[in-house]
Amino acid sequence: MRISVSRVWRNRHVNYRMRAATCKSCGSITFPYQPVCSRCRGRNVEPVDLRGTGRIVSYTVNYQYREGFDRQAPQIVALVELDDGPKVLGVLTDVEPEEVYEGQRVSAVLRRVSADSYHGIIYYALKFRPVRDGS
Ligand SMILES: [Zn+2]
Repeated sequence: MRISVSRVWRNRHVNYRMRAATCKSCGSITFPYQPVCSRCRGRNVEPVDLRGTGRIVSYTVNYQYREGFDRQAPQIVALVELDDGPKVLGVLTDVEPEEVYEGQRVSAVLRRVSADSYHGIIYYALKFRPVRDGS
């Protein structure tokens, strides 16, 4: 199932810029952005774009894949604690499973996932890649 063009457009800040909500009452950061604080349920929040850097808390390697997605296996899924606070699940890219370790520094990058030639849409997603010297 494909995501509609209008939905891609509506969610562009969350999906492509890591838009979150900072609570002016308690200081909590809610990701993805919601108009309500996830900690105190207050509505005194403002949007903020997270830096996208953090460290791997834990990870797993998935060798199974859906038909048509074989180019994405093995897929490494990591729990990343962002430097801005929230913990998020994300797919790792530009790294082999044997190179990954807990505590590894990562940075969010935008990667092409697929293309819908009928509608002319290219789907992108944020993934995490290890921070190496010079990157
Ligand atoms: Zn709050």
